[in-house]
Amino acid sequence: MTEIKHFVDGKIFEGSSKRAGKIFNPATGEETSKVNLASKADIDFVVEKAKKAFKGWSNKPPVIRARVLFKFKELIEKNSDELTKLIVSEHGKVYDDAKGSLTRGLEVVEFACGIPQLLKGEFTENVGTEVDSWSTRQPLGVCAGITPFNFPAMVPMWMFPLAIACGNTFILKPSEKDPSCSVMLAELFKEAGLPDGVFNVVNGDKEAVDALLTNKDIAAISFVGSTPIAKYIYENAAKNEKRVQALGGAKNHCVVMPDCDLDQAVNGLMGAAYGSAGERCMAQSVAVAVGNIGNKLVNQLKIKAEALKVGPGLDKSSEMGPLITKEHLEKVKGYVDLGIKEGAKLVVDGRNINLQGFEKGFYIGGCLFDNVKPSMRIYKEEIFGPVLSIVRVKDFESAVKLVNEHEFGNGTSIYTRDGDVGRTYANQIQVGMVGINIPIPVPMAFHSFGGWKRSLFGDQHMHGPEGVRFYTKLKTVTSRWPSGVRSNPEFTMPTMK
Ligand code: NAD
Repeated sequence: MTEIKHFVDGKIFEGSSKRAGKIFNPATGEETSKVNLASKADIDFVVEKAKKAFKGWSNKPPVIRARVLFKFKELIEKNSDELTKLIVSEHGKVYDDAKGSLTRGLEVVEFACGIPQLLKGEFTENVGTEVDSWSTRQPLGVCAGITPFNFPAMVPMWMFPLAIACGNTFILKPSEKDPSCSVMLAELFKEAGLPDGVFNVVNGDKEAVDALLTNKDIAAISFVGSTPIAKYIYENAAKNEKRVQALGGAKNHCVVMPDCDLDQAVNGLMGAAYGSAGERCMAQSVAVAVGNIGNKLVNQLKIKAEALKVGPGLDKSSEMGPLITKEHLEKVKGYVDLGIKEGAKLVVDGRNINLQGFEKGFYIGGCLFDNVKPSMRIYKEEIFGPVLSIVRVKDFESAVKLVNEHEFGNGTSIYTRDGDVGRTYANQIQVGMVGINIPIPVPMAFHSFGGWKRSLFGDQHMHGPEGVRFYTKLKTVTSRWPSGVRSNPEFTMPTMK
């Protein structure tokens, strides 16, 4: 059994804590490794290292920082198979899906390579007579990221490449359920020429997170995870005077209009509901069937959900892998039991799947509920598994009202051939990321990612232009050089003449 340690100040670091977490291969159910869980003393140690590294790194010209990122990009590409296999072995998702998520992270590195352009400020000559003014963005200092289990490469990469490109140093606390990928990324970044202490990975649980939240030398916290923890992070980081962005959970709706291309909608929904076993914050777990489309939609989804090929992530024929842990599997099955009790109609039941040779893996097949009502817990709560609920509504206005009344507002899609309906939906919906005939509207790296309502606490989304703003602070300089203009002291508010 391997032992997963931390990566601090350019090397593997054991830490002082004797506490460890268990890592499983979800495909087989076997415990494969142990992960060291950092203590407060370990966190204080890494913060010191990151603080020390800040001066040198923040003073490097952006173009030099960009060159390290270019090299890092090459190394990720070169090692993408190994990184992908690490994701599959600890998370369980299927190989191609894992590879795709790594690519989405890589795109943030590519975006961050443009940092000399992204950090260009503004300059105004002669804001007053022979007075110039310019604005620039400067790094914050030591930043920290706390990430969820469901994207062990992509979500950390939403944060650290851009934070580091902006001149900050960074401490990543990945999910303790699948931390290996983060450690390997840190090793590759060092190989790319990143100075020691600029990027550090500490593994841990609540003890490590609380130590990050209270450490006075951490300037900013980026968080992605469930809503209760996002709210906790937001409140406590702010209480400790840190800048914070905290992305939370979701319940994403896909509105299916009667005029849509139904094959396109069904195929989109299959990938969005069951891809990555529903363990995506952009998974579509509710299909809103508008008008008379309901029966046709349910019939087509039933055929495809029953035919879903569930299996280990490294088997190229698998379309859906296992869930992350046995506990999570029990939780998801519990929601299916609950849906039946609440009176929804279970059209496809994936609970009793049994895979020969993988009997101990954490598998569940695709589940499909019809006649789900907004009052049911299976509608209101995030299940985070391959369970798709159909809610039937009479018209477009009822669909918009339903989506807008949900507590979460991460992503949503609409399938329609009517441009007016598509445009009105995008305009009226209270959700951060919207797809029109697109199943999973995850913005590219050069746009920004984030939800609304209780899917995001804070005011900046991740990566793209909002990421640059989050990881820098604005400074505006107004300057005059002596050139014969002499003035007496002025005691009124200065106005430029
Ligand atoms: P989680 O909230 O359990 O854990 C996220 C992180 O918080 C982990 O690093 C974990 O160690 C830490 N943590 C957990 N409990 C804590 C506590 N009590 N105090 C301090 N820190 C704690 O989330 P998860 O189960 O790893 O991930 C799934 C969740 O993440 C889902 O709700 C999903 O929607 C959400 N998610 C959201 C987005 C988004 O962009 N909005 C993206 C991916 C995942």
